[in-house]
Amino acid sequence: MFMQRLTVVLLTCLFCLLYAPGVQATPLNNAVFQPGSDKYIVNNQEQQMDTISFIEDGRVFVPIRYLAYACGVTDENILWDPASQTVQLLLADKQLTLQVGSNQLIRQEGMIEADATPQIIGARTYLPARWVAAYFGYTVDWDTANKAVLIYPSEQLKPRPPLPVKIILVNKQFRLPTDYRVGGDSLIHFKGYPFSSLLQEPLQNLFTAAAGQGVSLTITSGYRTAAEQQAIFNNRASQLGLKMTTSTVAPVGHSEHQTGLAVDIAGNGKAYAWLAANSWQHGFILRYPEGKETITGYSFEPWHFRYIGLPIAAFMHHKGIATLEEFIYYYAGS
Ligand SMILES: [Zn+2]
Repeated sequence: MFMQRLTVVLLTCLFCLLYAPGVQATPLNNAVFQPGSDKYIVNNQEQQMDTISFIEDGRVFVPIRYLAYACGVTDENILWDPASQTVQLLLADKQLTLQVGSNQLIRQEGMIEADATPQIIGARTYLPARWVAAYFGYTVDWDTANKAVLIYPSEQLKPRPPLPVKIILVNKQFRLPTDYRVGGDSLIHFKGYPFSSLLQEPLQNLFTAAAGQGVSLTITSGYRTAAEQQAIFNNRASQLGLKMTTSTVAPVGHSEHQTGLAVDIAGNGKAYAWLAANSWQHGFILRYPEGKETITGYSFEPWHFRYIGLPIAAFMHHKGIATLEEFIYYYAGS
């Protein structure tokens, strides 16, 4: 009995000798995340995410997989337990456990309380970037000018973030720049209407998906030039008067249709309900929802959709963010 216990003790000590010095987690990477962007940078290489990082209440949240990669954690060292909604990250001799909805970070050294909790949005888990990266030994800074989280080993230079993320916002307050060029390249035509080339595939997919569910859609407006927008405004104003016109038609420079990213859609009976429920899956948002007139500046327009891309549209859908204005102000760090 005694010998047995001694053997265990000796073996344990041998184990300690072999492993006790451990491998210090040495931060190696530098990384940049920008709230509202589906891209991130690791060691000066731009990488694509299938979702976005976002800011909430002053904390930047990054999808767990990409935050782990940025810190040097590999796939096999990200352990997700769906039952307890717990994630464990392993890096060299460091272990960090976080639970969705809890602000307690369990480290080997003991538990600490963070000022942010991991979140699940849709099917994704997002972690507070600062707390995770700092635990693995990184310095974490917020670059105000470029709206970016910088993650880097403290003895190294800060990574240089790209220009701040620009999500095109056109409303009564924000005018389209006069030198704006639609989608950066040529217009495409879909069902006879011009659009930014970014919309070619998304529109096709949206219409195909609708048709597959018995919803027939048609387009009633796409890209408009400044002159066309001016003509529509003047025409409406001569019929309704200026006051009535401004709540339904945008003055020139303030119409989303001038971006090439907006589409007016008509359809059979269930078209608007179908679009409101499903258009996000193709990167579109209902731009002027009911009850949000004070935020968007426009009356409810069940036919007007704006393309913003799937990562942002999906995020807004799962998070229940109704307007682009709210997304940009509260989640994209503006
Ligand atoms: Zn419209």
